[in-house]
Amino acid sequence: MQIIRILLLMVVGILSLTATTTAQQSEGDPSLTEVWNPEPTVVTPGSAMMPPSDAIVLFDGADLSNWQHLDGKAAQWRVGEGAVTVVAGTGDIQTRQPFGDVQLHIEWRTPAVVEGDGQDRGNSGVFLQKIYEVQVLDSFQNRTYANGQAASVYKQYMPLVNASKKPGEWQVYDIVFAAPRFHDDGSLVKPAYVTVLHNNVLVQNHVELRGPTLYIGESSYAAHPAKQSLLLQDHGNPVSYRNIWIRDLGDD
Ligand code: MG
Repeated sequence: MQIIRILLLMVVGILSLTATTTAQQSEGDPSLTEVWNPEPTVVTPGSAMMPPSDAIVLFDGADLSNWQHLDGKAAQWRVGEGAVTVVAGTGDIQTRQPFGDVQLHIEWRTPAVVEGDGQDRGNSGVFLQKIYEVQVLDSFQNRTYANGQAASVYKQYMPLVNASKKPGEWQVYDIVFAAPRFHDDGSLVKPAYVTVLHNNVLVQNHVELRGPTLYIGESSYAAHPAKQSLLLQDHGNPVSYRNIWIRDLGDD
């Protein structure tokens, strides 16, 4: 009996709590907290190989005209079989168009035939604004320093997990990048932030960059234009890319 009495008291307690909450929520005008304007732009979502309708297609599998080498020459990387592949020694390529805050989708593949070790196996890189690198590397059973493996923010953040596929398989990065902001005098308003999904797995969760991703030494910010090119690295390994699209998220 005692147990039943206690249970009944608990039920009554919960019911009265619920009643209080409901009473509180029924006071006032709910429309005051509804946002109707502006209305989000309608975008047709993409699918596996199809970008969303408002994306800028940077490489569709055949046309490399949106890219150039750092000296302005046409990109010499090899286009074929729906992909573009690094030609060692030709140098990095960058977009003709500069970008600020973006959402980037990029697919990449390291060579099926494994050569080299550590940083010398399937190395390339996705450089946001030319200087902030999300590492591209064959990190399938290939140890290197953790903050230099695939999906690291190079020398700043190791990935939360290693979501790498086998060499020769296509992999995907989906990246959200917030560019840094600078005052007119060159001092920092706010740093850059990046979020990265590697093969749909969250590996960088809105991490704050300390400055450009450097090979040697500690980084710090130096003012640069609000928009800069997206750059892909020639690190001497024949890494391939395909289905590259970007969404410009504006300035603020
Ligand atoms: Mg690299």
